[in-house]
Amino acid sequence: MYALIDGNNFYVSCERVFAPRLLGKPVVVLSSNDGACIARSNEAKDLGVKMAQPWFQVRRLEKTAGLIAVSANHELYGDMSARMMAIEARYAPRQEIYSIDESFLDFDGVRDDLVAVGRHMRAAILQETGIPTSVGFGATKTLAKLANNIAKTADRKPGSYPAGLAQVCDFGRLPRDELDALFAATDVGAVWGVGRKTTERLKAGGVHTVLDLLRADITTLRRQFSVVLEKRCASCTAPRACRSTMRRRHASRSSCRARSARPSRRSTASSRPSASSPRARPSACASKAASPAPSASTS
Ligand SMILES: [Mg+2]
Repeated sequence: MYALIDGNNFYVSCERVFAPRLLGKPVVVLSSNDGACIARSNEAKDLGVKMAQPWFQVRRLEKTAGLIAVSANHELYGDMSARMMAIEARYAPRQEIYSIDESFLDFDGVRDDLVAVGRHMRAAILQETGIPTSVGFGATKTLAKLANNIAKTADRKPGSYPAGLAQVCDFGRLPRDELDALFAATDVGAVWGVGRKTTERLKAGGVHTVLDLLRADITTLRRQFSVVLEKRCASCTAPRACRSTMRRRHASRSSCRARSARPSRRSTASSRPSASSPRARPSACASKAASPAPSASTS
């Protein structure tokens, strides 16, 4: 089994660790030039702020809804990421860091109660870094991503999925009929690698949910879309189809730490906290290293 651990609203969560006044408020983190919203708290999402939405389009919400905007502090996020990844790495022999706030752990052969493991790991990350996370378990990376999406959605939107799946969701412990019910309730666009345009084309062809995708004719998918989509579909059904070699975590996180905070119109780097500042929470594994993050998804 694979686990995907993902920091919730990661940049906003990092800011909240050092600015408790932001807790419970609608918050967005702006890109380096303060041009666009690159992370949103749940409260900001509820106001309708979209990912990557230009700041000028939502600025009115500062006065009308108490929206708070902060400039990105990438040095802080890199440090917090390193702490989070080091904690996650305690729980499995192999870790693959997928983005600044997401990593896969390979639990192949582990017979433990994975939901209990996931909850323990979540609690440790929250206690040691202050970052809330979601954990998804699946037989493939695609399924682990999907399980993570459901864990996050069940937590954020009560009633969207069974409450027991909130925060930590393990597909491996669910019977087939319950899995099918989950897949039937999940938009096909939630599948890893199925982008907006592909989603539109799939829906035009009658494929609206994950279950629809799994029941679609594989030959048709290959002809109308791509081998990539076919493989995504296959990895939702064939447990080890997309297994890839997991890297042992010996590489340096130096490139992640090297990300520098750029001064912006809203604040200067010198006035901003970093996780290595005296205010930072202690971490038992902060000095341990993992490979650098290739992307910066902060969903
Ligand atoms: Mg995230």
